[in-house]
Amino acid sequence: LEWLYSYMIRLRLPGGFLTPEQWVGLNTIAGEHSTGVIKITTRQTIQLHGILKSHVKPTIQSFNLQHLDSIAACGDVNRNVTCTSNPSESPLHQEAYELAAKISEMCLPKTKSYYDLWIDDELIIDRKEEEDPLYQDRYLPRKLKIGIAVPPNNDVDVFINDIALIAIIENNTIIGYNIAAGGGLGATHGNESTYARLASVLGFVATEEKVLKAVYEIITVQRDFGNRSDRKLSRLKYTIDKLGIEGYRAEVEKRCGFSFEPVKEFKFEQRKDRYGWVQNHEGKWFYTLFVEHGRVLDTEEYPLKSGLLKIAGTGKVNFRFTCNQNLILSDVSENDKAEIEALLKESGISGYTDEVSALRKNSVACVALNTCSLALAEAQRYLPSLVTKIEPVLEKYGLQNEDITIRMTGCPNGCGRSPNAEIGFVGTAYGKYNLHIGGDRLGMRLNTKFKENIGEEEILQTLDELFGIYSEQRNPQETFGDFSWRYLQTV
Ligand code: SF4
Repeated sequence: LEWLYSYMIRLRLPGGFLTPEQWVGLNTIAGEHSTGVIKITTRQTIQLHGILKSHVKPTIQSFNLQHLDSIAACGDVNRNVTCTSNPSESPLHQEAYELAAKISEMCLPKTKSYYDLWIDDELIIDRKEEEDPLYQDRYLPRKLKIGIAVPPNNDVDVFINDIALIAIIENNTIIGYNIAAGGGLGATHGNESTYARLASVLGFVATEEKVLKAVYEIITVQRDFGNRSDRKLSRLKYTIDKLGIEGYRAEVEKRCGFSFEPVKEFKFEQRKDRYGWVQNHEGKWFYTLFVEHGRVLDTEEYPLKSGLLKIAGTGKVNFRFTCNQNLILSDVSENDKAEIEALLKESGISGYTDEVSALRKNSVACVALNTCSLALAEAQRYLPSLVTKIEPVLEKYGLQNEDITIRMTGCPNGCGRSPNAEIGFVGTAYGKYNLHIGGDRLGMRLNTKFKENIGEEEILQTLDELFGIYSEQRNPQETFGDFSWRYLQTV
C-alpha cells in the first residue's frame, strides 16, 4: 500500500483574473477534487489543497478545459506576475495588467512537457531539441517573483518581489517604469546569513520593449551569477548583495545594450484594497469584498462560496484577485449593478464586508498548519481569533479605526509577508511566534523583531502596552508602524 499523498495545485493567473465561467468551473473542480476551499493567495492567484494523488491529473485536465494552467506556478522559474488589482479602473491599470501578462508569457519555460505529462497522455518525447534561451538547461537557482505597482497604490507590495516595476505617470500616461530588484521576505530561523530584504531601485526605463528586455536580462544575470550551492542563499537578493547594486546593474546594462535612466520620483499613498463599489473611466462598476485570508468556503453563518457561485452564474461579473487575498467582482455594467448588489446583500457578502473591523481588513495570513509542510505554527486558522482578541484592546485606546497592517506566517518563509507589516508574527513552534513591529504602512520599510517566541497571553499584553504608549505619545497622523519604529530606537 502506498501512502495517501495529497497535493496542492496553484494556478498561473498573471494579474489575477477569471471570467465568471472560469469561476463556476473552478468551483466545480474544487468540489470534485480538493477540500472544496478556494484559497486566494497573497500573489493574486488560486490554490486548491488536499488533492489526492489519483485526482492530480483529472484536476489539471479540468483546469485545461477552462483554459487555465499551473505552468511555472511553482519551481525555480518566474512565478505568477502580480499587478495592481483594479486593472480596468483606468486605462493605466489596464496597460500595467497587459504588461504583467506579457512578462508572464515571456518568462514561461519553453518546454511543452506539462502537456505531455498532464494533458495529452503521450509518452514523454525526447525534448533535447527544445531550446529555452532564458532558462537554458538549468533553470534558475531559486524561484523568482515579479510585481507591478501603479502609484499611488502599493496594493501589490511591490518591493517584496525579486523584480519590482513601478509605473511612472505623467499627464495621466505611463511614461515608463522604475525597475527595482532584490526583494524577498524569506529567511531561516537561526541562520544569520539569511534575511528579508526589499528591492533596490536600479533606475528608470522608458519604453515597453526596453522594460521587457531589462526584466529578461535581470533574470539572466541571476541565472548565471545566482548561488547554486546553497538553496538558502540562492534568491536574487543574495546575488545583488554579492555583486553590489552597481555591479548587478552594470551586468544587466551590458546585456541589455542600454543604460537605466536616473530613478524618477513616485509616491505611494496606500497599500490597502478599496472595499465596496468603485466606478471606472468607462462607467463599469467594481465591487471589492473582504475574504478573510482568501478562504472562500461556506459556513453556517456566512455562505460566501454559494453566494459567489450564484453571482458568477449571472455571467455579468469578472473575478479579480488582490495581493491582500481579497476579491473584486469587476466590469459590472450600470444596468446589471442592481442585480449584483441584491445578490451581494442576499448572501450576506456586502453586510459582512461593511461590518468587518479595520484591523481585520488589513490582516493577511499564509496557509501554514495543517496544510503547509514547512509550517511550525498556525496562521490562517489562528489569526482570525487573535484579531478578535486584539480588537477590544484597540477600542480601549480609541484606535479601532486605524488601518494597522497585521500579518502572520507559520514559518519565516514570508508567504504572508509578515516582515513587511506594522505588526508581524512569524511562527517558531506550535502556539509561539516572534513579534515584529516598526514596518511602515506603505510597504517601504521592513519591521524588526521585538519579542521572541511568545504565546497568546504575552502577545496581547505586549500589544496592550504598545497601543497604550502609541495612543499617548503618537505625533499627529502618525501611523502605528512609524510610531513603533521611532519607539524601537528608544528601547
Ligand atoms: Fe508555509 Fe511558511 Fe509559506 Fe506559511 S510562510 S505558507 S508556513 S512556507
